[in-house]
Amino acid sequence: MKKILLSILFLSGFFPVFAQNNVGQIKATIPAASEIKLPMDTIDTGDKFIKIVLYDNHSWDYYDIGRPVIDSTNMFDEYWSTTVLHAYKDYPSSLIPEEVDLRLVDSLHGYCPPITGVVRSGYQFRRTREHQGIDIPLHTGDTVRAAFDGVVRYIGYTKETGGYGNLVVIRHPNGLETYYGHLSRHLVAADEMVKAGEVIGLGGSTGRSTGPHLHFEVRYKGQTFDPSRLIDFETGALRDTVITLHNHYFSIYSHYGQTDEESKAAAGRIVYTVRSGDTLGGIAAKYGTTVNNICKLNGISSKKILRIGERLIVR
Ligand SMILES: [Zn+2]
Repeated sequence: MKKILLSILFLSGFFPVFAQNNVGQIKATIPAASEIKLPMDTIDTGDKFIKIVLYDNHSWDYYDIGRPVIDSTNMFDEYWSTTVLHAYKDYPSSLIPEEVDLRLVDSLHGYCPPITGVVRSGYQFRRTREHQGIDIPLHTGDTVRAAFDGVVRYIGYTKETGGYGNLVVIRHPNGLETYYGHLSRHLVAADEMVKAGEVIGLGGSTGRSTGPHLHFEVRYKGQTFDPSRLIDFETGALRDTVITLHNHYFSIYSHYGQTDEESKAAAGRIVYTVRSGDTLGGIAAKYGTTVNNICKLNGISSKKILRIGERLIVR
């Protein structure tokens, strides 16, 4: 904050400005007291990196705080593994700040949609498991492209990746990792550098899949969040050049389109896994709530027959 205020003071002419006169000598020009305008307040604009500064002489200015830059220091050493699928699995999520700004593209680092299409299945709790990415139907053999510049961190085959099928994982200089699942073919190798838009594989239906589609996942230090926060998949457009990741985004119940309050509430939810012999009444009593509330939260009827392993939001 101090740096910002100093910059504002400097820009507003509070400090002497050194100017060069026509014979090449340096002289200091000190503004008259009446010319000095002092910043009084700042107003938010729609863009969190641009503020409006109000001065005591009733004038105002736009002030650019400066978007974060892509800082790749250590990004390709920290928890790097070409043999472990989730390289950050032992990284304590408590070390991730409450809020982190990540630059997605800059003059050196580009973006390209991995594929475009209608999202068939989003980032959500689906049946009995967490669906930690988004699914976009494709034709087997369609090209799948790297979303951002990076280095291929992991190449996996169906027998090693569980549900992902043939998988490519790319680590990007800003720390994000993108996962491309169910491929019919890999077209890159581990440790290979890729540019945004480079073809990394062909689409398919390998692994846990009911038809050809791309499973696209985004992780920050091992934590997934809704990829629709980054990309509008129908148009392929990147939503912004910077993303602000909040801790509550890492919950499977938090998704694009929610307000911050809705996302926070969703992330704080308590979820219960149904066991043999459970009834809605019994679960409600256990969590100090009512059958009615549980039905509303899950969009179910009070007569619903519970299945073992099914997850219900209880609060
Ligand atoms: Zn999927």
